[in-house]
Amino acid sequence: DGKKPLLSVRGLEVSYGAIKALLGVDLDVYEGEIVSVIGANGAGKSTLMNAIMGDVARQAGEVSLDGKPLSSKSFQVVHQGVSLSPEGRKVFAPLTVEENLMMGAFPRQDRLEIHRTLAHVFELFPRLEERRQQYAGTLSGGEQQMLAIGRALMSTPRVLLLDEPSLGLAPIVIKDIFKELKTINEGGMTILLVEQNARQALMLSHRAYVLQTGRVIMEGPSKELLANPEVEAAYLGTG
Ligand code: ATP
Repeated sequence: DGKKPLLSVRGLEVSYGAIKALLGVDLDVYEGEIVSVIGANGAGKSTLMNAIMGDVARQAGEVSLDGKPLSSKSFQVVHQGVSLSPEGRKVFAPLTVEENLMMGAFPRQDRLEIHRTLAHVFELFPRLEERRQQYAGTLSGGEQQMLAIGRALMSTPRVLLLDEPSLGLAPIVIKDIFKELKTINEGGMTILLVEQNARQALMLSHRAYVLQTGRVIMEGPSKELLANPEVEAAYLGTG
């Protein structure tokens, strides 16, 4: 219907020396969507996220937000309206929860508005508010994941990138996190989610892409992929 994607990736190629990690990936995320990218270990999911952010060099292709090319410098990409909750969370262990969150607000100036966003993050994740003065390194895995998501929200991005938010977490904690992601999306946030936990990701997202050794081999509405026997056999075997 002629609607333009908010985030658009075209022909994206990334190599690490001789290893080609992405071989020409095309992907679109429309405003208001949750889009998931599923794939096995080493398919290139993290590379895709890091290349969108400019954390790894893009060798070919284009990444754009609202039709404007995204910078190749990640701090600039955050300024442009895309932020990442990275794989492995990477919270600043010797800083408090609140200090970690404030770091996420680095592109912003307006203190009043920043504190409004902080209050919003605390509303989404009350456990972070209870622990606002606790050192991030002493949080549980699930709490650190909430913190990483909260930190990414602090820049008020137009698109939120999430790299494996379920990694290393107990099933019940994963359920909690995914419930919060749904709430965040229903509040208007556009989300691109990369997951090895394919079933949960497909249940949450509107559309999905299957990445295999650096290529998109399938895409469509998540419901259709969930019902697809090939997807089932390759990615939904357990859980
Ligand atoms: P996982 O879920 O295990 O993190 P992934 O789908 O996120 O997997 P990537 O981490 O993007 O996959 O890795 C894609 C390919 O690129 C793999 O073959 C990996 O070994 C390789 N790779 C990733 N990072 C580097 C690096 N810094 N140097 C060299 N090779 C790398």
